Amino acid sequence: LAKLSSPNGLRFYDPAVQAELEAKTELEHDLRLAIERQEFVLVYQSQVDNFGRIIGAEALIRWEHPRHGFVSPGTFIPLAEETGLIVPIGNWVLEAACEQLVDWANDEHTKHLTLAVNVSAKQFQQPDFVDTVSSALTKSGASAQRLKLELTESTMIGKIDEIIARMHQLKALGVSFAMDDFGTGYSSLQYLKRLPLDQIKIDQSFVRNLHQDTDDKAIVQTIIAMGHSLGLNVIAEGVETLEHWRYLNDLQCHAFQGYYFCKPISAIEMVKRSLDPPPMLA
Ligand code: C2E
Ligand code: MG
Ligand code: MG
Ligand code: MG
Repeated sequence: LAKLSSPNGLRFYDPAVQAELEAKTELEHDLRLAIERQEFVLVYQSQVDNFGRIIGAEALIRWEHPRHGFVSPGTFIPLAEETGLIVPIGNWVLEAACEQLVDWANDEHTKHLTLAVNVSAKQFQQPDFVDTVSSALTKSGASAQRLKLELTESTMIGKIDEIIARMHQLKALGVSFAMDDFGTGYSSLQYLKRLPLDQIKIDQSFVRNLHQDTDDKAIVQTIIAMGHSLGLNVIAEGVETLEHWRYLNDLQCHAFQGYYFCKPISAIEMVKRSLDPPPMLA
């Protein structure tokens, strides 16, 4: 990056770098306003059992930017984490997810569905996080038993005893926990044993090349076997093909999520989907 000095001491940067910085500043500014402007929506990706029946969904956030259109969470979630905006955004997600659960609870076809919500490390670390979850449940009237919180291994960095204590407080409310992107972080098996987890989600990077990469195959086998012996429910994400599903099913993976079954869709489409017959494994 060419850094030039002018006689008056001002420094000029590479215009491309400058433009990128300005774009980021603008995005951050817009992100601050996005909640009150109601630019966020949740979409839902179904999770299915061994028979392909929908048992629940994961809530995934979408940002409809007034000028740039759809901004992917891969772009704005890291920015939200960097700026702390993930806290109010995450709280909005929790409230919206709980309201969705109440909608589903009122319909015969969807009342059994669970809903998984992504919780970022910074959000989980807020001193009032337990209260936040508790009041989202109370305000909406959602059943805690239907709400699942997805944590990542990055949440487990820090004072592990405090993290475990907080997880127990949340479990006392009735919510359950999934470890997202399992296998990509650094959580030791020692921690895994102590954490009050209900489910591990095999990261999609291992599932993607299942049929080309024998290492990925071995990793997936090991994660599922470990889940079984620790009494954890195991879900695979990024299931894109019938071959993926068949292979994972043979290993007795419990649940599945991925484009093979359904892309993330609106709440309305989700209700329609729950009426469709499940796909065939044959
Ligand atoms: P994640 O929680 O691991 O979510 C799975 C991501 O994989 C989603 O991307 C989903 O659309 C995508 N996906 C699902 N099935 C397939 C498949 O078969 N193949 C492929 N290639 N991809 C698949 P999305 O919606 O873009 O979200 C990306 C990440 O952004 C999420 O990863 C999560 O870490 C984060 N995120 C999304 N919504 C929220 C939220 O409400 N709060 C927080 N803190 N993070 C969120
Ligand atoms: Mg997730
Ligand atoms: Mg994941
Ligand atoms: Mg991810």
